[in-house]
Amino acid sequence: MKLLVVEDEALLRHHLYSRLGEQGHVVDAVANAEEALYRAEEYHHDLAVIDLGLPGINGLDLIRQLRSQGKSFPILILTARGNWQDKVEGLACGADDYVVKPFQFEELEARLNALLRRSSGFIQATIEAGPLQLDLNRKQALMDGCGMQLTAYEYRILEYLMRHQQQVVAKERLIEQLYPDDEERDPNVIEVLVGRLRRKLDNGNGFKPIETVRGQGYLFTERCR
Ligand code: CA
Repeated sequence: MKLLVVEDEALLRHHLYSRLGEQGHVVDAVANAEEALYRAEEYHHDLAVIDLGLPGINGLDLIRQLRSQGKSFPILILTARGNWQDKVEGLACGADDYVVKPFQFEELEARLNALLRRSSGFIQATIEAGPLQLDLNRKQALMDGCGMQLTAYEYRILEYLMRHQQQVVAKERLIEQLYPDDEERDPNVIEVLVGRLRRKLDNGNGFKPIETVRGQGYLFTERCR
């Protein structure tokens, strides 16, 4: 998933950037609301983590602006201990959940994963589609109960398509799932990865859940639950 992290404390921002990156996310980490608004305008994000105490435009105003621009991704706020008014106001402005500083990374991760699951309509930590099962916590794909050998990139593409089942996903959107924005973006890479993924999914069993929609992108056609 592509995440937007807005935190002015450099050390914490870096920590979030690297830990969330290790969890398989592509992270846009910025220090202020102005930069966050620019990134949100320019790129598609699946979730935002926003510190409320920001210099300049504060976190609450940032959330208001994002929501008024129609950004509907889940927002997790970071608040200072004891400041219950902030939490209430944050949730009222359109945030979905909060974590109180200082926090354990595991707590943030658990809340973030729960928000991502809910936003794609899956309540369980697994998604099933025919013989295929995705374990969202372990980041593993199982075919007929056996672990599939997918690379990290193949897994990310598969997870993204399954989370957006029955919707056409543009290649550019998939590229954003793999690379931070400043790296080279080559749509051919996506074609190669999707080709490999299809071969692994259709291991002689005729399972072909990924359809190409000419000129638009890819569609995961199998019903997921
Ligand atoms: Ca702060």
